[in-house]
Amino acid sequence: MIASPPFGPADVGPAITAATARPAVATPSKTSALRDGTVDVIGAGPAGLACAIVLAHAGRRVVVHEARARVGARFHGDFQGLENWSSDEDVLAELARAGIGTGFDHHPVRRGMAFDAWGQAYAVAGEEPIYYLVRRGPDAGTLDQALLDQARTLGVEVRLNERVRQASGVAVLAGGPRAADAIAVGYVFETGMPDGNYICFDEAIAPGGYAYLLLHQGRGTVATCLFTGFKRKAHYLARTVAMFRERVGLSMANPRRFGGYANFRLPRTAVQGGHPVVGEYAGFQDALAGFGMRYALRSGVLAARSLIEGADYETLWRRELRPELRASVANRFLFNLAGDRGWRWMLARRLSRGDVRKPLRRLYRPSLSKTLVFPLARWRYRAPLRDPSCDHVACDCVRCRHGIDQEDAAPRPCQSKLA
Ligand SMILES: Cc1cc2nc3c(=O)[nH]c(=O)nc-3n(C[C@H](O)[C@H](O)[C@H](O)COP(=O)(O)OP(=O)(O)OC[C@H]3O[C@@H](n4cnc5c(N)ncnc54)[C@H](O)[C@@H]3O)c2cc1C
Repeated sequence: MIASPPFGPADVGPAITAATARPAVATPSKTSALRDGTVDVIGAGPAGLACAIVLAHAGRRVVVHEARARVGARFHGDFQGLENWSSDEDVLAELARAGIGTGFDHHPVRRGMAFDAWGQAYAVAGEEPIYYLVRRGPDAGTLDQALLDQARTLGVEVRLNERVRQASGVAVLAGGPRAADAIAVGYVFETGMPDGNYICFDEAIAPGGYAYLLLHQGRGTVATCLFTGFKRKAHYLARTVAMFRERVGLSMANPRRFGGYANFRLPRTAVQGGHPVVGEYAGFQDALAGFGMRYALRSGVLAARSLIEGADYETLWRRELRPELRASVANRFLFNLAGDRGWRWMLARRLSRGDVRKPLRRLYRPSLSKTLVFPLARWRYRAPLRDPSCDHVACDCVRCRHGIDQEDAAPRPCQSKLA
């Protein structure tokens, strides 16, 4: 048995200082792990719950520790896309193969509309679903709640309101993002608009990222996803709403503001103190577009397999996740360089011609150009993003962990300044 360093400081990336600054609430028992082979999973997001479900199917005793009172508490009923282009196998079939139920509300998206920075519209379509629209948060029907229900049905013990500071015994670390490399701000709302899926690449609306509008059965999510310019998030959100109003007649009833952050990096190792690290806590996230759910689910499954089969988790994630993660880091670097013109070219020449899943899959495949650019890209993103728009004075931005988006955060000194 290996006792880990405190859950936070790691050889895989920056610390969860918010957690480590608090008093320890729980330390999973070393003796129970030795006695009955209990696996402690720390974090009840998609990564942790997927891991718990697969372990429970294999007959292992699993205890999931969740810091918050409810699963999915960092989300707000917003729509997210469970991507379906990165492999030939449909993502729902992949989950079913791993024994993970797909009873969450989901809706296949086969077509949408993309805008470039000049306002030109491009229809994009897939022969198979490009992604599945799912909802996130603590409510019934969300991905988070459905995974929780399934885990409990299989006998997994889920302890809510239990923040773990130090892992020991057999544990899987699944604590979600450690820092903000990108943020999203937006509204969830009700609407009379027809279903639709829209995205816009425009540096004046979403610097380094994109704005999106997702509508399904009278509910909507509109947001801007920023890789820089965090300090002006309200300005970019206002521009996003105005742009979608003008182009597609966005109308919102009862809009509720939401925000969140995402953390990506390519870790040197995804084993911390002998424990597999999964999902965004490992930095597993598509660095170009912020699609993290499939990586979270996949890495959770891989960690479970490593414990069930005695396989080396490091070998598994490097073989099954690393090639795409590397490509996504190189993609981010290239699209940052190319900016609006790069996206215009991509939309006109690649993504709006035929089945969009094919060029998307190619985009995330290793290639000579990505191999060549990768060392430079990795160097560029070696540390969490330093947002030049933040002056760190009376700072309330999530990058510095003060933020509105981190519900349980108490005011504390700006980390960017301390770093
Ligand atoms: C606004 C927004 C939009 C997004 N849109 C998309 C999208 O369209 N498609 C997509 O694929 N991805 C999207 N993502 C990313 C995706 O949501 C995440 O990558 C995914 O949720 C990561 O799952 P996870 O299980 O690793 O972490 P999380 O979902 O963050 O779960 C981690 C859990 O661990 C708990 N925890 C943390 N520390 C401790 C501790 N010390 N002890 C106990 N519990 C702890 C947390 O409370 C949390 O419940 C989006 C993210 C945001 C913020």
